[in-house]
Order: sequence, then structure tokens, then C-alpha cells
Amino acid sequence: MAEPRSRLLVLAGPTAVGKGTVAAAVRELHPDVWISVSATTRKPRPGEVHGVHYWFVSDEEFDAMVADGQLLEWAVVHKAARYGTPRGPVEEALAAGRPSMLEIDLQGARQVRETMPDALFVFLAPPSWEELVRRLVGRGTETEEERERRLDTAREELAAEQEFDVTIVNHEVHAAADELVTLMVHDHAHPSVH
Ligand code: 5GP
Repeated sequence: MAEPRSRLLVLAGPTAVGKGTVAAAVRELHPDVWISVSATTRKPRPGEVHGVHYWFVSDEEFDAMVADGQLLEWAVVHKAARYGTPRGPVEEALAAGRPSMLEIDLQGARQVRETMPDALFVFLAPPSWEELVRRLVGRGTETEEERERRLDTAREELAAEQEFDVTIVNHEVHAAADELVTLMVHDHAHPSVH
């Protein structure tokens, strides 16, 4: 069989580290890179577009996707909503040989490691714990109680760094995006980068 298949990059990291912003920078600067659009049961925020940022679905629709085996992985994130990666588009992008990436939470990354152990698992780390707290507070979108819950999660998530193949420290968004693209485009021949 022809083998244009490319390697999947899975980006995870603690809450508020800037995964979404880094993924957006990759999307903007490197349109050749395919980035998965997740399904979620959370409501859209202002400016978010169905099919671009997420597939916004009902609980019933999400249940059906799970039952049909349509999701590569899924998880309840921040005890608030369900998020999952549609399997078909990932398969298609890889079969087409496109540099491809998922931006998902740690629970999801662990599931993908079980089913796609050849993927490259990249941990996006904050420059420091203080900086992570600053970013979380600075965003100002959560209540105090919600922020505490996210910080608890972040503490646990930071401890998971050793499970990943590569760590990128998110000092600056464009630099982090460039590092990711370099890994996707140039590192196929070196599957065990540490
Ligand atoms: P937000 O609601 O702020 O867009 O995202 C919340 C969290 O959900 C982020 O940590 C993000 O990485 C995670 N997330 C987004 N899509 C997926 C997905 O398809 N699967 C999993 N497991 N987590 C996701």
C-alpha cells in the first residue's frame, strides 16, 4: 500500500497555559497544517463559529457520536462539558499525508496514547507556576470557585509532563507555534524525541 500517512501530533497541557492560542497561531501561520475540530456540549462563546472552533452539539448528539464509535477520544473537562475528537477527519488527514494535530486535554491525550501509540505527544508547559496563575486570573472569565477548581486540575496536570515525548515551554505564542510546526514537519524520521 502507498504510505503517505503522516504522524499525528497531540498537544496537551494544563489549563490556561495557552493551548488554544498556540493552536490558533498554528492555524493562522501554517494553513497547511490540519487541526482537528472537536465536538463539544458546551455553549459557543461570542465569536466562536460552529465547524471552525468546535462542532457545538447537544447532549443527545454527543451520546450518539459516542455510541457510534465516531470519537477517537472524549472526556468531561472541568466537570462542565464533554469534548471529543471526531475520528473520521483525523484518519483522512493522516491518510492524505498532512501534518496533523489535536489540541485536547490530558485525559484525552492518555486515551489517544492507548489507541495511537505512534503519535507524538507534546506537553505545553507554562514558564512557571506563578505565570500560569497570572494567566488564569488575567483571563478573568471564571468565577473564584471555578478558578480554584481549575488550579487544582492544573496542579495535577503539571505533574503529567513526564508522560509526554516532548515539552515546549510557552514563553511566547509564535515561538511555541513554530516549534510545534517544526516537530510536525521535520521530526517524522525521529519518532522518539525526548
Ligand atoms: P475551552 O472550553 O476553553 O475551549 O476548552 C476547555 C478544554 O477542553 C481545553 O483544555 C481543551 O484542550 C479541551 N478540549 C478541547 N477539545 C477537546 C477534545 O476533543 N477532547 C478532549 N479530551 N479535550 C478537549
